Amino acid sequence: MHVFSSIDETREFVRAQKKAGRSLGVVPTMGALHQGHLSLVKLARARANSTVVSIFINPSQFNDPKDFDRYPRTLERDLELLAPYGVSAVFAPTDPQEMYGADFESWIALEKLPLRFEGASRPGHFRGVSTVVAMLFNLISPSVAVFGEKDFQQLRIIEQMVRDLKFDLEIIRAPIMREEGGLAMSSRNVRLSDAGRSAARAINRGLSIAFEAFKGGRRDSRFLRDLVLQAYASEPAIAVDYIAIVDESSLEEIEKIVSPARVLVAVMIEGVRLIDNWALTP
Ligand code: AMP
Repeated sequence: MHVFSSIDETREFVRAQKKAGRSLGVVPTMGALHQGHLSLVKLARARANSTVVSIFINPSQFNDPKDFDRYPRTLERDLELLAPYGVSAVFAPTDPQEMYGADFESWIALEKLPLRFEGASRPGHFRGVSTVVAMLFNLISPSVAVFGEKDFQQLRIIEQMVRDLKFDLEIIRAPIMREEGGLAMSSRNVRLSDAGRSAARAINRGLSIAFEAFKGGRRDSRFLRDLVLQAYASEPAIAVDYIAIVDESSLEEIEKIVSPARVLVAVMIEGVRLIDNWALTP
């Protein structure tokens, strides 16, 4: 497994792979890897000859500098975790200057998809995400890239960007990996106390209650949304940011579910922001 921190080395590797006729799959991450990330790596490996994992804590997607400083940095451990997974190369620029230089100004910002939900709570976040992902696509020119459904708004934004800007690659959606008890795996979970982690199980519980009602035939968003809200209200540690039932594609809120939809949630527990979602597919 090669480990590169510079653009030049990565370009050289990519050129050699292309010359040898090998397709590339990319898995963009910010490190602090867990089983969720590794499930993405497995999907990439199944779909391309060589897999590149990027590990870059991208400063431009953090609107809160404290959150950026606190973000776990565990490169050595990440490399150990990846070693048995047949990854060809890890691109891990530790210095943000490697990606942005001193005078960067070519931002990519979508018009509508970033406006609500995570974008509303974290101004500039998705501009940072779409820009860094576009840079990675240009650098690695993969035939597939894998993104987790856990960050569903991000996934939709990347899919839209790929379509709009004609990137010649396929986005693969990876299902949400959960801890025992249902909490969606996240690099941020390590910041929760035991009590916080136990409260956080209610996030998925609330979603599953709404899903059961949906399966039972309920299609009215307000009713389903209230079920989630009630489940969260029973956990004093949970402060709800949003609970929304949206169209899968446009992410517009809907009143009745007649086509594929998602319930998206974000909550704060012990100062940690946690997001999750479930598909509601009629
Ligand atoms: P991050 O390192 O948090 O930026 O995440 C990198 C990629 O891993 C993104 O595509 C995430 O959606 C995905 N990911 C993170 N957590 C999970 C999870 N629990 N299940 C599936 N994918 C995940």
